[in-house]
Amino acid sequence: MTQNLLIRNARPLGGAPVDLVIRDGRFSPPGDQPPAEVIDAAGFIALPGLVEAHTHLDKTLIGMDWYENRVGPTRNDRILADREAKRDLGIDARRQSARQVLQTLKYGVLHIRSHVDVDTEIGTANIEGVIETREAVRDLVDVQIVAFPQSGMLPRAGTLDLMDTAMRAGADIVGGIDPATIDRDPVRHLDEIFALAERYGKPIDIHLHEPGDLGAFCLELIVERTRALAMQGRVMVSHAYCLGMLDPARQRALIEAMAAENISVMTVGSPAAPALPLRLMRECGLTTASGSDGIQGTWEPWGNGDMVERAKYLAQRNGMTNDADLAETMRICTVGGAEGIGLSGYGFAEGDFGDLVLVPARTLAEAVALTPQKRTVIRRGRMLVRDGEQVADLSGRFSL
Ligand SMILES: [Zn+2]
Repeated sequence: MTQNLLIRNARPLGGAPVDLVIRDGRFSPPGDQPPAEVIDAAGFIALPGLVEAHTHLDKTLIGMDWYENRVGPTRNDRILADREAKRDLGIDARRQSARQVLQTLKYGVLHIRSHVDVDTEIGTANIEGVIETREAVRDLVDVQIVAFPQSGMLPRAGTLDLMDTAMRAGADIVGGIDPATIDRDPVRHLDEIFALAERYGKPIDIHLHEPGDLGAFCLELIVERTRALAMQGRVMVSHAYCLGMLDPARQRALIEAMAAENISVMTVGSPAAPALPLRLMRECGLTTASGSDGIQGTWEPWGNGDMVERAKYLAQRNGMTNDADLAETMRICTVGGAEGIGLSGYGFAEGDFGDLVLVPARTLAEAVALTPQKRTVIRRGRMLVRDGEQVADLSGRFSL
């Protein structure tokens, strides 16, 4: 149930301590009659909800038997193993997505963008499963669904039609993947997904792992199409490893071109991939978000979905240790994510949604470095988690 709350002595995004008031699910001015319900934030950090800007809710194996990973090292090995697992392990996208959403809610993840597989074996079954979860958790967590052609789109006849079906079924965003190395026809791949996005009036989010000049070429094609179709602010490129592999002049030119079209970038800070130039991206005004990618799946066995921990990984991957840099990684996992996935009403201004995550730390850098777990999570004025323990009764809502 939504409560009116007074939260005393909280540090919004690491700023000076203030009192915050939530009325009718939104941040409000203090008024003459402060709410009777008072929470002492003890000078801790307040975040307006952690943003998971890139994960795969339909494929996590959380709560299932341990998956013995015998998968080879290439991306194609992994795609094949992934398809096999969907067939053989009976992964239920509805149940698995609900498990991950509930697990990460405890950390304060209140907004999730998930890529969800569409392919010629499973059709749109995973999309339908995650849509069920999206609706079941609507009052707890925002879930955005990307129709994602994981196994490739053009080489597997029928996939593009299934993408269209997924959009009609209620997917929120059009996905794409490696236009050159998987689909082997970058111009056509991008033309098709931009056409689909235009047809349904939806944003685009494309996985781009392609390296160096090849990746840069694809990024240039994305910039051209974003400009031509006036899709500024509605295109995200996930991974964009190539940005970390170019000579300085080309790197800067490309980042500036993307920033000019308000294209955002999502990076997970993977230790196995090139690091992105986070400082330069910030200097050029390129919106940067982060995500966990797959959690406990066939691609990678680890991950827990905690976006404070993700901020730490970003800092580590970029060799960052000073407080200002650590604060920036936290900004990427909150405000950057919110901008990247197009949230509105996100923040602590009057009228913004009354969402708040208290992290027991005095500065953003301390929170990133120590990733404290005993967090308090409030959604639209409703206490869901207090000091790391779930307090809202969510039983009966899910069959897990
Ligand atoms: Zn991904």
